[in-house]
Amino acid sequence: MHDTTPPSAPGDIAVSVQGVHKQFGDLVAVKDLDIDIRAGEFFSMLGPSGSGKTTVLRMIAGFEEPTAGRILLHGQDVTRAAPFDRQVNTVFQDYALFPHLSIAENVAYGLKVRGVGKAERARLVAEALEQVQLAHAAERRPSQLSGGQRQRIALARALILRPKVLLLDEPLGALDKQLREQMQFELKQIQREVGITFVFVTHDQEEALTLSDRVAVFNDGKIEQVGTPREVYEFPDTEFVARFLGITN
Ligand code: ADP
Repeated sequence: MHDTTPPSAPGDIAVSVQGVHKQFGDLVAVKDLDIDIRAGEFFSMLGPSGSGKTTVLRMIAGFEEPTAGRILLHGQDVTRAAPFDRQVNTVFQDYALFPHLSIAENVAYGLKVRGVGKAERARLVAEALEQVQLAHAAERRPSQLSGGQRQRIALARALILRPKVLLLDEPLGALDKQLREQMQFELKQIQREVGITFVFVTHDQEEALTLSDRVAVFNDGKIEQVGTPREVYEFPDTEFVARFLGITN
């Protein structure tokens, strides 16, 4: 996954979800869904709990297989590819750090699994920790860090593998309001710096509107509207979108 190919040209489609349907037993979680996410875009999937956002994210990651339809990453059909082969990486809400490993070891983990040599690992880890301003914490354990710092480590660990697409599942959900705003700012800054496509799941309207280049508003396994924050906020296509975004007039 760690390669040095240049980031894709603007205008490329990074993620294409085509006619995707997902059923769990009798429950239809995602209904005949189409999404095109552009390379380098900060794209949010916004909607109430249970509307299917995480299921779509998990299908892009390869943790779930669609019941029907296709998923393409940079033009390549990955519908049935293993997560490891997808050049995507996921940041989970609970960060999923290894408690018994140091911060540096946590960040290096994916590189080690992929056979990157020791000297190169050390160089990349130092660079990644610098990027999230935690170079001084390399030898600490996750339990010795604050929530915001753990969040940054999870981000560094995911970005060090240079995925083409980073999937973020409510990554700020566990933080208090003030820290959340700070991390929103940092997340946006890091995304601009690295130029990687971010696909972000949230139920928080304000967060999606602040961070995103485009937002898809989910309702009951379908997308009600896709557009820039301004488009969905100023010109909601449906009553659901207007209500969900809290537009009252
Ligand atoms: P969201 O991320 O918008 O909260 P989810 O994608 O998690 O929504 O869930 C969509 C629907 O699919 C919900 O009704 C949820 O209960 C159901 N669901 C999600 N994952 C599973 C699963 N592994 N097994 C059964 N039902 C699931």
